[in-house]
Amino acid sequence: MNIQPDEFSLIAKYFQRSPGAGNDTGSAVSATSQNRSRRDVAVGIGDDAAIVIPPADCGIAVTTDTMVSGVHFDEKVPASAIGHKLVAVNLSDLAAMGAEPAWLSLSCSLPEIDEVWLAEFSRGFFAAADYYRCALIGGDVTKGPLTLTLTAQGIVPAHRYLQRSGAQPGDRIYVSGTLGDAALALAAQQGRVDIPDNLRAELEKRLFYPTPRVGLGQLLRNQATAAIDLSDGLLGDLKHILVASKVGARIQLDALPHSKAFAGSIAGPEGWKYQIAGGDDYELCFTIPESRCGGLETLALQAGVKVTCIGIIDGHRELRFYEKNQQRVIDLHSYSHFANDE
Ligand SMILES: [Mg+2]
Repeated sequence: MNIQPDEFSLIAKYFQRSPGAGNDTGSAVSATSQNRSRRDVAVGIGDDAAIVIPPADCGIAVTTDTMVSGVHFDEKVPASAIGHKLVAVNLSDLAAMGAEPAWLSLSCSLPEIDEVWLAEFSRGFFAAADYYRCALIGGDVTKGPLTLTLTAQGIVPAHRYLQRSGAQPGDRIYVSGTLGDAALALAAQQGRVDIPDNLRAELEKRLFYPTPRVGLGQLLRNQATAAIDLSDGLLGDLKHILVASKVGARIQLDALPHSKAFAGSIAGPEGWKYQIAGGDDYELCFTIPESRCGGLETLALQAGVKVTCIGIIDGHRELRFYEKNQQRVIDLHSYSHFANDE
């Protein structure tokens, strides 16, 4: 069933940033929105389709992610966080390809018109979209169970995009930021682990407002041999690189980077499971020849992103984990099981 015309005008109030929208002071759209539109959008929202003018000699990276109420979020999650996260998870995929985010298309299925929810959702959505200089160029609204689908398109110089398939034996394996915060926050919300309130609030920021590594992804062009974003957890996502590249890896568990809030909440093997199998980190995992490690670490530091070497690619065609004493951690069944449970 389609949303009725009067309802559609309400939707437009929160999402359409056409010329004149800046004069609508009752709208969630900021008066300066026109300053943030992209010059490469020839036709935006309001026609039968958008028209964008990509730069010459560039490829377009295209990705889509859906968030379903009751599956990816529940009523405890603030609407602004849902808006932010919908943008962030898509841009994280573009970052993993080395693409610069540009254009967004939003499809909403809404059970009802809740103006308070829509205002908050659009506030979170546009805060993230504006920060990364993305334009919303189209969308669709229907009535139904709360489901939000975003298609993000990004620009990448032809032949300089990243893929999962180029890792070589000897390459170092890096991750950005820290791992495990979001998974631990989710576990706390679900009562599976007890965490002090102040630390829990820190961890929940990572769950609700993940940071896509957009700048780092572009720095990795011509540097990384393979890359992926960590949405499902290191264990599963790194395996995608290994399978695509036909290689194996050795990971040093004690090298996995963690936040202060994470270290204050959990430690040792109990913490590892959140770091390798928890998911929702939205950090980048990438491989890079040893000769480029120093230069890359300097570039990342200048860009304000921490990157940490956590292991090495080899030719054994399996993923092996080691502790500090170089002892191999054999029993990964519980981690795989944990991953499947999430
Ligand atoms: Mg991904």
